[in-house]
Amino acid sequence: MGLRPFSPDLDAHAPGTEGYRRGVDLFNGAVSVSPRFVVTPASAVDVQACLVWLRREGFTASVRSGGHGVAGRAVAGEVVIDTRRLRDVTVSAEGVSAGSGLTWGDLDRALQARGLVVPGGTVSSTGVAGLTLGGGINWLLPELGLTCDSLIAVRGVTTEGDMVEISDVQAPEVMPFVRGFGHGLIVVTEFIYEPSVLPQRVRGGSLIYELLEAGQVLTSLVDASADCPTTINWSPALIHIGGRLVVSVDGVSTGPDPFDEWVESVVGPASRSTVRDRSYCDAQSMLDNPARWGARTGWRSLFLPSLSSRCIEEIVEAGRRAPSVGCQIFIERMCGAAKHPRRPSAFPLRDANYDILVTASWASEANDEVHASWLDSTADRLVEAESPHSPSFTYVNYADRKERGYANDSYSDLTAIRRQLDPGGILRPCYA
Ligand SMILES: Cc1cc2nc3c(=O)[nH]c(=O)nc-3n(C[C@H](O)[C@H](O)[C@H](O)COP(=O)(O)OP(=O)(O)OC[C@H]3O[C@@H](n4cnc5c(N)ncnc54)[C@H](O)[C@@H]3O)c2cc1C
Repeated sequence: MGLRPFSPDLDAHAPGTEGYRRGVDLFNGAVSVSPRFVVTPASAVDVQACLVWLRREGFTASVRSGGHGVAGRAVAGEVVIDTRRLRDVTVSAEGVSAGSGLTWGDLDRALQARGLVVPGGTVSSTGVAGLTLGGGINWLLPELGLTCDSLIAVRGVTTEGDMVEISDVQAPEVMPFVRGFGHGLIVVTEFIYEPSVLPQRVRGGSLIYELLEAGQVLTSLVDASADCPTTINWSPALIHIGGRLVVSVDGVSTGPDPFDEWVESVVGPASRSTVRDRSYCDAQSMLDNPARWGARTGWRSLFLPSLSSRCIEEIVEAGRRAPSVGCQIFIERMCGAAKHPRRPSAFPLRDANYDILVTASWASEANDEVHASWLDSTADRLVEAESPHSPSFTYVNYADRKERGYANDSYSDLTAIRRQLDPGGILRPCYA
């Protein structure tokens, strides 16, 4: 049974109710907090009523959309604002308007039907909201940049209860922070994106190589990266298939050069392939793995200007030391259009050419320590391998615990903007 502080349509779901259970159910099953209520607004007006109410009651709040943030900060407030009923998609002369409760799968499907695309997350259940506000690494990044580079404006509600639109015209001092550090500035109800034309041909999948070849595969790809057409993107990963550690070179091409032909010309023939022509939506969900939802999860990431041979050795060695089959290491490319944003953005990692994402998921609390220790030692060894080049800040969307500092000047400006938009410090962002 829910309380009804606002209107008959807007429940505040208390512990024990289905709405509460759904609201606190996150990708990372290790997150265990007990907010007082979960609120499920169906409109910006509902969000406004909610914020007025929780300010009056003196509650803190956090915003939950796709629930993928592994730090679990989406449920860190006393009241969780679950935006998943905000699901409208409209296309007009101003751009694509997307409700903040959509997943990338929802938005990709709606736009594909109209021959359009906004470059977004590579797993279809990830929320449009959290991913966009933190940057947004995606398959189309070499040509179109980060997801936030396509963002024209956001609409939403401040904790003071004001409905606002933030864009480069209306709020030029705030909008760059929305593109990269946008979590927890306001409750976003609507994202306005500049769409791109849907690629006519999309080819994607995974090329599998044996672990013995890992060093050569990674080195060859890195050496050839500068010559890779911008219509191809690839991401090698050390993952377990059927209990065996292998290298899976995942990727997508959207132009005349097929992704698999390019990779095999550089690396040599793969032992297995799932690459084929696909619809864009199919390519966007080819890495989905719903079984990981609710597992205990830890992530570490490192953004680097280059991958040295020592770093590649450490990556392969870390794969061999992995304590379970739930441990994976991904290498993502940060090249191309992401380096030259077409709109002002505070995203701090544009100089990087690669990021290494080290992830672990496991079932039982009894295995927390062994996985945390593998994650920490792997991250430390990678930093050591790349020192002194490694930056001391990480991608906020990949942080799995209190962010370890932003070593650039923009963080103090961000704090000032947060104070301006949320003077009472009501909203809990994902990095504080
Ligand atoms: C399986 C998986 C795949 C991923 N793939 C990618 C990828 O391809 N590229 C990439 O860049 N990242 C990826 N990520 C990381 C992802 O970008 C972040 O986890 C992101 O925060 C998820 O957004 P969400 O809305 O799903 O998460 P949530 O946990 O719901 O939200 C994360 C944070 O965003 C803020 N927030 C959410 N909604 C709003 C809102 N409406 N208004 C204001 N603030 C809000 C809150 O501070 C919240 O703590 C992936 C994560 C997972 C688990």
